[in-house]
Amino acid sequence: MSNSPFQQEIAKRRTFAIISHPDAGKTTITEKLILLGQLIQVAGTVKGKKNDRAATSDWMSLEKERGISVTSSVMQFPYKDRVVNLLDTPGHEDFSEDTYRTLTAVDSALMIIDGAKGVEDRTIKLMNVCRLRDTPILSFVNKMDRDIRDPIELLDEVESVLGIAAAPINWPIGMGRDFKGVYNLYTDVIHVFQAGKGSVVAEDIQIKGLESDEAKALLDDEYNNYLEEIELVRGASHEFDLSAYLSGQLTPVYFGTALSNFGVREMLDGFVDWAPAPLNRATDQREVDAKEDAFAGFIFKIQANMDPKHRDRIAFMRVCSGTYRKGMKMRHVRIGKDIKIADAVSFLAGDRELLEEAVSGDIIGLHNHGTIQIGDTFTDGEELKFTGIPHFAPELFRRIRLRDPLKSKQLQKGLQQLSEEGSTQVFMPQRNTDLIVGAVGTLQFDVVAYRLKDEYKVEALYEPINVYTARWVDCDDPKKFEEFKRKCADNLAIDGGGHLTYLAPTRVNLSLTEERHPEVRFRATREH
Ligand code: GDP
Repeated sequence: MSNSPFQQEIAKRRTFAIISHPDAGKTTITEKLILLGQLIQVAGTVKGKKNDRAATSDWMSLEKERGISVTSSVMQFPYKDRVVNLLDTPGHEDFSEDTYRTLTAVDSALMIIDGAKGVEDRTIKLMNVCRLRDTPILSFVNKMDRDIRDPIELLDEVESVLGIAAAPINWPIGMGRDFKGVYNLYTDVIHVFQAGKGSVVAEDIQIKGLESDEAKALLDDEYNNYLEEIELVRGASHEFDLSAYLSGQLTPVYFGTALSNFGVREMLDGFVDWAPAPLNRATDQREVDAKEDAFAGFIFKIQANMDPKHRDRIAFMRVCSGTYRKGMKMRHVRIGKDIKIADAVSFLAGDRELLEEAVSGDIIGLHNHGTIQIGDTFTDGEELKFTGIPHFAPELFRRIRLRDPLKSKQLQKGLQQLSEEGSTQVFMPQRNTDLIVGAVGTLQFDVVAYRLKDEYKVEALYEPINVYTARWVDCDDPKKFEEFKRKCADNLAIDGGGHLTYLAPTRVNLSLTEERHPEVRFRATREH
């Protein structure tokens, strides 16, 4: 394949998501990244989280009430000669499968760690998802303007808890009130910290050489200690290695403070240099090359009512090859139909705009009138299906009941649609008429109840139910499977997609059942 303008365009794309624990600074860093991309002049206007610019629809009011961001969006901004696509993930401590699936649509991730707290729960979970695809991860240790933990200890924690080698690119000089800047271990340049420049792109004040007089003056009494520290760091830490980063084995680490917009630029510079351009993707037929001309993409999330003016649903598509052009026809592979897409939406810094063209790595939004599901593949006609877009076994379960029993049809329909778009999972036990709703985070239950009321006019109540986890079951041996189904009938249910599921009341029950039926596979994830 030649190096055509089309291929050069693809090579510019850097598509990523941020993984972090709530409050580590994801929103703040997003603002600064966009500021650096010069899409907005003053940071602080990225999300509806802290201002209610766009928060007028009913749907938005749930977010407003909770002060959280349920919707996640996509932002595109230029930086240097690259085009960066940042896929946002919900910021609340609670989260849904959307967060997980968003990670299937990126080529790399940025991990933000609160320097005072270190590696936290949610980061561990998200990291485990990244590991499924060996997603390259770049790290930013945030909040250097505060008294954080010993940086060496933090890197140890990243290595031991997350199981990834850590390679510091720069090293902090002091912290909190005494934070003076960062020293780049590879360029031998000190970037000097200036406080109070958080809302602008400040001048980059550099001191060249740790041996220089300016460096000695800056470090003053601490100079000799710092030299020793750097020697120790160089000796004890991993060296940056591009291929180890690209294969997800090593994370380059930057230190800085997002709030003061310091260190973010260096991190972004490293990111656009090293992060992978759009990667090839597996399908059930063949690998799709990101640079091939034929169009292909898959849906990784469906979002309701993002725009108060249009109460429609938007299906987010990751373009994997070829070019989207306004008015083009695409094959909706699952239903075997060609459809004309005249009005896909793009995501420029939070505001949706009509889009003329998009290439591999870009995200576009399709208006969904109920025919698109998560995991759906769209092509220029070829029969193939992208793989690796998972359903995760829920971790929380509730029985759902109606206030008005006459509305059970609407409830069924609502739950069916919400489960198709991935907002929740529904299970129908074989032995009774319960409806069980499963979620990955408790917030999902509120969202489901809210949307059932708002969109389907049914008031639903939740009741506790004794389910510990769900496993999708299958077996190669039909006879053994029949026996399993007979013996375990009380625990079997059909999910929203028609798949047989084992609902285990306890962890012990699950392991006993697995032991008793070794021929049966119990899966914690299922592909769409
Ligand atoms: P998110 O939940 O990960 O999106 O975190 P936010 O960006 O909303 O940040 C959480 C809190 O930490 C906010 O009060 C921020 O102002 C604060 N914060 C973010 N970055 C820094 C930083 O570099 N230094 C300090 N001191 N506070 C920060």
